[in-house]
Amino acid sequence: MRKIDIFDTTLRDGEQSAGINLNTAEKVEIAKQLERLGVTIIEAGFPASSPGDLEAVSLIAKTVKNSIVTGLARAVKSDIDAVWEAIRHAEQPHVHTFIATSPIHMEYKLKKNPDEVIEQAVTAVKYAKEKFSLVEFSAEDGFRSDKEFLVRICQEVIKAGATTINIPDTVGYATPEEYGALFRYLRENVIGAEKIKFSAHCHDDLGMAVANSLAAIENGADQVECTINGLGERAGNAALEEIGVALHIRKDFYGVETGLNLKEIKRTSQMVSRLTNVVIQPNKAVVGKNAFAHESGIHQDGVLKNPETYEIISPALIGEDDIPLVLGKHSGRAAFRDRAETMGFQLSDEKLNKAFAEFKKLADRKKEVTEEDLTTILTEQQVSIEDVPLFELKSVQVQYGTENIPTATASVMTPEGELKTIASTGSGSVEAIFNTLEQLVGGKVNILDYRVQSVGKGRDALGEAVINLKYNGYTSTGRDSAQDVLEASAKAYLNAVNRQLIQQQVRDKQTISV
Ligand SMILES: [Zn+2]
Repeated sequence: MRKIDIFDTTLRDGEQSAGINLNTAEKVEIAKQLERLGVTIIEAGFPASSPGDLEAVSLIAKTVKNSIVTGLARAVKSDIDAVWEAIRHAEQPHVHTFIATSPIHMEYKLKKNPDEVIEQAVTAVKYAKEKFSLVEFSAEDGFRSDKEFLVRICQEVIKAGATTINIPDTVGYATPEEYGALFRYLRENVIGAEKIKFSAHCHDDLGMAVANSLAAIENGADQVECTINGLGERAGNAALEEIGVALHIRKDFYGVETGLNLKEIKRTSQMVSRLTNVVIQPNKAVVGKNAFAHESGIHQDGVLKNPETYEIISPALIGEDDIPLVLGKHSGRAAFRDRAETMGFQLSDEKLNKAFAEFKKLADRKKEVTEEDLTTILTEQQVSIEDVPLFELKSVQVQYGTENIPTATASVMTPEGELKTIASTGSGSVEAIFNTLEQLVGGKVNILDYRVQSVGKGRDALGEAVINLKYNGYTSTGRDSAQDVLEASAKAYLNAVNRQLIQQQVRDKQTISV
C-alpha cells in the first residue's frame, strides 16, 4: 500500500499561534509523545528565531530516535546553519527551508523579481544539501503562486538537491478540487518530479484544511504537514488526528497507510491541550469530548443494539478506552515506577519521588486514581524545572462564609529561600488568594483569564486551574492541578509567575508564517 508521511508541525507552526508559549521541557515531552504516535517527521522549531528555540530543537533531536527531526530556516545561510547546529547529530539530518513564491509576497514582502527568488532558493538548497541528507523546500504561499513559475522553481530546486517540495496553502484560500489539481499539475509537468516527495501544508481559514490535505494525497502528495488538535497560525493547520483517522477509516477509498499508532491519538491530543492550555472544542472531530457521545434516544438505542449503527469510529481505536488502573493507595514505589515507565515516562529519581508523593496524597483522598490522573501527575513532574529557584506554595488556607469577607492566608517559599506568610481579603475566595499571592510575589499582577476544569469524571475528580496573567508587564499562562480547586488555583498562579522567571530568553522570539 502507498505510504503517506506524516509531518507534524505542532512544535513550530502550532507553537507560534497566539497565546502559546511552551518551555523546552514541555516541547521535549510533546516530541516524545509524537514519536510514540509514530509520526514520520517532527518539525521541532525555528532555531534561528531565538537561542531558546535552538536549544529545544537540539534537545529534541538528541532525544527522539524513531522520527526524523527537522527545523525551519529561511532561505539564508545563517538560518540553515542554525538548524545544522541544532540537529547535526541526528541520524537523518533534515532541514526545511522556504521562500515566498506568490506575486504578492515576492513584490511586497521580498521586493524581489521571480528570477531573484529562484536564485535565492537554489543557493539555499545547494548550501543545505552540502550538510543535510534531506532537504525540504517550501514555496511559501504556493497555492496563490503562478503555476508556470512553480514548475520552474520546483525544477531548479530539484536540480539543486531538494528531496521534498512543499506547496503550502499558507493563507487557507484553496478548495479541495483546486488544491488537488495543483498537485496533479506539478506531478505531470515538473521535470524530475519522480525523484522527490511532494508535500501538502494547509491552513484552516475556510475550514477546508483537512479536506485540502486529503485532496492533495489523492493527487500525488506523499507527505502531509499537520498539527495535533489543528493548532497553528490564525484558524490553525490541518488536524493530524482527523487526517490519520480519515485515512484509516476510509482505507477503502484512499488506499494509503500512514504508519501512525492511532491508539496514541487521545493521549497526544490531551497532552498537547494541557501543555498549550488550548481547550479542545467538545464537538471537535475524533478528539472532542462529545465525539463519541450519543444524545438522541434513537441513536442510543441503535448503538446499544449494534455500535455500528451510528458509530463509524470506535473510541478504542484512538485509545479512549477506560483502562483500569491497578494502582491504589497501597501500591509501592516500585509498582508506581513500573507503571510510569510503561506509560512512557522516564523521570529522574527526584522527580519520580515527588510524583509518587503526589500520587499517594491523591490516592488517600480519591476512591479511584485513573490513568488520566496519573498522566497529569507525571506530566507535571516531567515538565517541572529543577535548577531555577522559583516560588513554591507551602500552604494556603481560606476562610469563607456567605456573611463574611473571604480571607486567605498563604505561605510561600521565595526564590531567595525565604518563607513568607501573608493574609489578605477579597470579594471571593479566589480573589482573596490572588490578592495574597500578589503581595507575596512582589510586583503588579493583572489576571487576564482564569479557568477551572476537572480532569476526568466523578465528584472526586482532580481539579485543574489555568491562569493567564500579566506580571510586571509580561504575559504568561500557568497551570496546575490539585484535588481542591482553590489549591490548584494558587499553584497555577505561582506557576504563571515562575514561567516568567524561567523564560526570559524566549521573550523576544520572532515568529514567521509558512
Ligand atoms: Zn503554516
